[in-house]
Amino acid sequence: MKDLFESVVMQLREPARLLRMPPFSYERIIRPNRIIEAVIPLIKDDKEEILLKAFRVQHDNTRGPYKGGIRFSPDVNLSEIKALAFWMTIKCAVADISFGGAKGGVVVDPKTLSQEELERLSRVYARAFADVLGPQRDVPAPDMNTNGVIMEWMIGEYAKVTGDKNPAAFTGKPVEKGGSEGRTEATGFGGAYALQSFLAAHPEWPQKPTIAIQGIGNVARYAALKFSELGYKVLAMSDSRSGIFNEGGLDVNKIIAHKEKEGRLSGFSGGREIAQNDLLHLPVDIFVPAATENVITKETAPGIKAKVILELANGPTTPEADIIVSDKGIPIIPDVLANSGGVTVSYFEWFQNIHNEHWSKNAVLDKLEEKMKKASADVWAAAEEFHTSLRTAAYIVALRRLQK
Ligand code: NAD
Repeated sequence: MKDLFESVVMQLREPARLLRMPPFSYERIIRPNRIIEAVIPLIKDDKEEILLKAFRVQHDNTRGPYKGGIRFSPDVNLSEIKALAFWMTIKCAVADISFGGAKGGVVVDPKTLSQEELERLSRVYARAFADVLGPQRDVPAPDMNTNGVIMEWMIGEYAKVTGDKNPAAFTGKPVEKGGSEGRTEATGFGGAYALQSFLAAHPEWPQKPTIAIQGIGNVARYAALKFSELGYKVLAMSDSRSGIFNEGGLDVNKIIAHKEKEGRLSGFSGGREIAQNDLLHLPVDIFVPAATENVITKETAPGIKAKVILELANGPTTPEADIIVSDKGIPIIPDVLANSGGVTVSYFEWFQNIHNEHWSKNAVLDKLEEKMKKASADVWAAAEEFHTSLRTAAYIVALRRLQK
């Protein structure tokens, strides 16, 4: 299997060439500053002790403390963590927030753990890595299979080991424990602001577009709500089983309520059920992958009829599909820009904790809109300057900000 990190850094070749970066600075930017590996002990409920592999990769801190999630998954491996840490560096630079990039993980299947075991694991991880973490050093957050409660356990353990009680050491906390208002909405709303900015800069595209969204999780639902508020028509949404399509437009509140109540989309009366893959090929203006990675592939890309793709999931387009979609003349608003609203509000959380402030939801969302629109405008400008794709342009914006 191809090394994920090596294939991810390939994406930097073209932007580095356009910027005429010397090989030395290019290498310096792609290679992580530090890789910390640990074997951490977990005492199971039956008192058996098992050893688990754990990582923290600190990729780059040129622009501020390292920042990135911690995931618990049996599929965690070093190459993946390095790739995700690299992406965080790029994303924070595109969003123009004062963070670098990092990622952490434990090779474990959390479904096999009791709540008590999960807490012990979280605490052991925080203890093992406490000396490389901290508000001005490296700020973790929830990621795959981790959440606000796990962050609370980690903060407690980190405070015990270091004596530092500042909640800014971790983000993604519950609001009552120092988390930020607006974090739940941030990624979906941020994506909608990026699209709004794209349409304003490109009057040739439909200004009140029709949209198909893959997903109905956190990111997809807040994007859909904001699209409706902006007067865009959401025609389709999907979960992992099937999709719902209505040519006249879905009632977004109703479809979300149905999913909440029934746990599935099937049976929703406000549209007709379609197969998962059909959603990708609907005749809409905008297609929004907002569920999972690698869904636009060399198999699915040729049938895409949308005029623009807004990537809200991480890595939804494979490199081969990227070429097919570009050849069709379909612009892709890339993930490193489109879904950076989440980390932007995490930065606001850290900032509020450091300054002992609590901003209202409106204040957070107003600042988010401003940040997303500025980051988007920077990417559109780089695409024009270098006559290149929006993805390459986003990397150019990041590289310029990261060059030392
Ligand atoms: P989530 O778990 O809340 O929702 C995921 C949704 O995807 C669910 O509705 C699930 O049914 C659906 N799904 C899963 N597999 C699918 C498939 N094959 N086809 C169609 N639907 C499928 O997750 P989320 O937080 O909304 O994250 C979605 C994506 O956005 C992920 O790629 C995540 O990495 C990325 N992302 C999330 C954030 C954030 O702040 N939550 C930030 C940046 C990027």
